[in-house]
Amino acid sequence: MTWLRQLRWKLFLSHLLVIAIGLVILLPTAQFFANNPSLGASDSSLLSESGIPASSPNANSASTSDAFQSTMEQALLIAGFAVLGAAIVVSLFVSRRIVEPLQELTLVSGRLAQGYYRERTTIQSDDELAHLSHSINQLAETLEKTEQRRLGLITDVSHELRIPLTVIAGYMEGLIDGVVQPEPQIFAMVHHEAVRLKWMTEELALLSRAEAGQLRVEPRLIVLAMVIERVMAQFQSQTASQGLTLESNLANDLPPVLADPDRVEQILINLMTNAVQYTPSGGTITVFARSLDPFVEVGVTDTGMGMASEHLPHIFERFYRVDKSRARQSGGAGIGLTIARHLVYAQGGEIWAESAGPGGGSTFRFTLPIYDTTS
Ligand code: ADP
Repeated sequence: MTWLRQLRWKLFLSHLLVIAIGLVILLPTAQFFANNPSLGASDSSLLSESGIPASSPNANSASTSDAFQSTMEQALLIAGFAVLGAAIVVSLFVSRRIVEPLQELTLVSGRLAQGYYRERTTIQSDDELAHLSHSINQLAETLEKTEQRRLGLITDVSHELRIPLTVIAGYMEGLIDGVVQPEPQIFAMVHHEAVRLKWMTEELALLSRAEAGQLRVEPRLIVLAMVIERVMAQFQSQTASQGLTLESNLANDLPPVLADPDRVEQILINLMTNAVQYTPSGGTITVFARSLDPFVEVGVTDTGMGMASEHLPHIFERFYRVDKSRARQSGGAGIGLTIARHLVYAQGGEIWAESAGPGGGSTFRFTLPIYDTTS
């Protein structure tokens, strides 16, 4: 009988109850007065008022009709009072069941609107109001999590920006006070931090645009091999200087894909930057691509430090770093993969990571839709 718990049935049944009480009172009352006309309006006063002699046939019929009318009036009056009483009791009960939760919902939603995202409703029933309360609680939870993320973002961003700024300010103060000598390597260090700061602010701007869904992606027919080769060429000298081997493994039958070449390049650069960053000298980085109809799978695999499986579901979250102190030293802000994921999603693909564990290397794969030549 779960339907009985629904508000509309409760209201319907309460109205039905009032009508039933009216009928239950009305019928026996009418019966009672009909059987006891002397209690009704058989009063001769009525007859005498009409000026008809009580003994005449006309007077008899008039008397019967008056008595009936009066009986009905009394029965209706009593039933009316009974129904009124029942309606007051039932509506008090029903409105308490509706008004109280509504007051609580109003209070909680008002508190949420003021920014108190920890507020929750406590309605326990099983009707529509309880469903509304559940939805408000879900909304509150989402708002609370978003707020926590926002506060976390502000903390993270200010922390990330403070490190290079502190280094630059420290060197500059040292130079002004004459404690630090104006040597080329000092200027190089200051320059390095300034470049890192610039890079981070650009990445943050990109991230915020990506999270707001404002990254412009213009997919068109592209030949992936050309984009991959272009990116590999950019990393040639860096990998060589770090003692890394750079290889490619592209399937011969790679179909054209529907993607934005600049955005694909950006994804590959982010994955390659990580591979170079987290692979020690002597390691190998391989870029591969193969057709997996209706997608092409592209990936970067390295023989580097890898990661434990518990990190895999989180590394695409913003500011997530497996080894925070180490990543910070090497310049990672933990947003490269978040941006890559946004860019892949915006082009209709998927991205994921695999690793055989710490020291076992990592593989990052993403998909792009094959260009449909029939459309
Ligand atoms: P970061 O700028 O710190 O590299 P990312 O978002 O690109 O930020 O990566 C998030 C984290 O994922 C990194 O801090 C690192 O811990 C881990 N990671 C990413 N790529 C690799 C890789 N190729 N090998 C090992 N760990 C990686």
